[in-house]
Amino acid sequence: AKADGHNTCRFFDARMNVEAGEGHRLRQGLRRALERKEFVLHYQPQIDLDSGRVIGAEALIRWQHPELGLVPPGRFIPVVEESGLIVPIGEWVLREACRQGVAWRDAGLPELVIAVNMSATQFRRDDIEQTVIRALADSGHDPALLELELTESILIGDTERVLDTVRRLKLLGLKLAIDDFGTGYSSFSYLKRFAVDKLKIDQSFIRDLQSDPDDAVIVRTIIQMARSLGLRTVAEGVESAEIAQRLSVFRCDEVQGYYFSRPLPADDFAQFLSARSAA
Ligand code: C2E
Ligand code: CA
Ligand code: CA
Ligand code: CA
Repeated sequence: AKADGHNTCRFFDARMNVEAGEGHRLRQGLRRALERKEFVLHYQPQIDLDSGRVIGAEALIRWQHPELGLVPPGRFIPVVEESGLIVPIGEWVLREACRQGVAWRDAGLPELVIAVNMSATQFRRDDIEQTVIRALADSGHDPALLELELTESILIGDTERVLDTVRRLKLLGLKLAIDDFGTGYSSFSYLKRFAVDKLKIDQSFIRDLQSDPDDAVIVRTIIQMARSLGLRTVAEGVESAEIAQRLSVFRCDEVQGYYFSRPLPADDFAQFLSARSAA
């Protein structure tokens, strides 16, 4: 038994070293990535189900790595969260998304809400309100057209302080959405306490909506509850016309997913929008 324990330990040590080594290499590259302007935002359209119009764009970060190509956020966001680098990177995302929103407005595109993902570390900082104010002021982006996506975990811990931050951000006139709704602690009390505007129903409930009756019940219930509370709903990960149709029957407000479009580089997004409005 002792030998087994020893082996288990060695196994874990080895694996942790590999992970730490890889993390270290990533971190080194990530530190310079911001200066070298290797990050890029892609935008995924959010479609209003009633009108069929694109009314929003979620900004999603990618790392244009000189050797590895386009690195998805799942590969580096956890690393930058743990290293604190998420703060300057998150600020860049916010500023870049606001800048793009104004550029599209100036180019004559239809009005769009720009949605930006927030990490817990970023949101819990004392200067988050100032960071948002600066990004809005420097870009000239309309606060009413900025939506911050927060995960349930952000709203669970350290309630008083988070409540205060949420209040102050809402006073700026921007919108707040709960991302990945249904996957967190789902203590619904925070929906009452925090003045959020929107629930983004997690893709894990949407994917099998047609085949899994439990998912259908959960999604329908979330939408009904949200409506009763005066919150908008967005379904994420919509991959087929059938699922979009079903969500429309459930009276979901907005949809987002590969069926409509993958996240696109800014220029492609503008083209996608022009083509749709022309049609
Ligand atoms: P998320 O915020 O839940 O974003 C949705 C993810 O689902 C995106 O992955 C998107 O490309 C993908 N997706 C959209 N429609 C579909 C679909 O129909 N089917 C499937 N299978 N997937 C779909 P992505 O871009 O790889 O981002 C992954 C996660 O990385 C995001 O999840 C978010 O948590 C994080 N992330 C991305 N950008 C940022 C950022 O700027 N800041 C922070 N803090 N996190 C970010
Ligand atoms: Ca999101
Ligand atoms: Ca999500
Ligand atoms: Ca997520």
